[in-house]
Amino acid sequence: LPGSSPLLVTGGAGFIGANFVLRAIAEGRKVVNLDKLTYAGNLDTLASLQDNPLHVFVQGDIGDRELIARLLATHRPSAIVNFAAESHVDRSIDGPAAFVETNVVGTLALLEAARDYWKSLEGGAAQSFRFLHVSTDEVYGSLGSEGKFTEQTPYAPNSPYSASKAASDHLVRAFHHTYGLPVLTTNCSNNYGPYQFPEKLIPLVIQKALAGEPLPVYGDGMNIRDWLFVGDHCSAIARVLEAGQVGETYNVGGNAERENLTVVKAICALLDERHPLADGRRREALITFVKDRPGHDRRYAIDASKLQRELGWTPSQTFESGIAQTVHWYLDNQAWVERVLDGSYRMERLGQ
Ligand code: NAD
Repeated sequence: LPGSSPLLVTGGAGFIGANFVLRAIAEGRKVVNLDKLTYAGNLDTLASLQDNPLHVFVQGDIGDRELIARLLATHRPSAIVNFAAESHVDRSIDGPAAFVETNVVGTLALLEAARDYWKSLEGGAAQSFRFLHVSTDEVYGSLGSEGKFTEQTPYAPNSPYSASKAASDHLVRAFHHTYGLPVLTTNCSNNYGPYQFPEKLIPLVIQKALAGEPLPVYGDGMNIRDWLFVGDHCSAIARVLEAGQVGETYNVGGNAERENLTVVKAICALLDERHPLADGRRREALITFVKDRPGHDRRYAIDASKLQRELGWTPSQTFESGIAQTVHWYLDNQAWVERVLDGSYRMERLGQ
């Protein structure tokens, strides 16, 4: 991440945002980190930055246009990286309104504040300013057994989550075409790795498998996702920020299509090896098929060749190396997980 002026990162207490913030600061970049601290925001993840002057944490909402305007005027960032979102598909099925509120209305407020700030910049500062919007491959809908999503694939979101992300992508695009705002959009496949909230498939399965509990797998377990290690997603975002063409979108993927069942079995095998169950059972026997999620997309696969061809980015991890690192990280960081599971990660912010 070259450059010396600060970045405004939103959602930097969440899974991917925090990985990105930790990396940017390790590289010497100042980060103003705006996060509402919903259930998904976790300051424990940022504990190592507590006294680091490169990290300015602000609890707030991307929908608070006045707050954003103030932060932009005070810190004069050269880029905004927007991770803030409601991100869990199952929660969007139970309560879609919060997804529209943050992902659509919130992104709009952030864009308006960004546009006004960018218009106030002069010369080189205006030219080099970027608004990078982090989005998902779920906006493209579902694939059959053939083909991959490219940047030209028409949007066809199927869940309230992906519909709200699709809407935000369209607003970002419109702010470029209507107001000239220098935007970049990345659409990434499923991420996994350190600091992921244990409601998502991989950390959920690791926790349950460690405890010897049943491992819930939706439907027949044959849904396919393209898995990307979170560090590789962060390096892709940094690369797009550095060299992406304004107004373009870039697909980010790991070339790692796996059936959900294969992912769960890989975790079982890694845990059996490092941490066998006391009664000697193989963890695969814990797999339990549960009723499928409504509107569950069958297959996602990303064609990330544009990012590779134009910006020279490739993932550094294979699925096998990434999943092994991830399982080991969760084993080594059970205290972090425990504080999420027992809710104590939320107490600190309330001063309790
Ligand atoms: P996450 O749920 O772990 O983190 C989201 C963060 O945003 C949390 O810290 C939360 O407190 C914060 N937040 C929520 N609403 C906010 C608001 N109104 N104002 C400010 N902050 C708010 O999500 P994640 O998995 O880290 O995903 C980050 C981004 O990447 C999201 O935009 C998501 O759509 C996108 N994405 C995620 C994946 C994935 O596999 N996790 C894949 C592709 C794209």
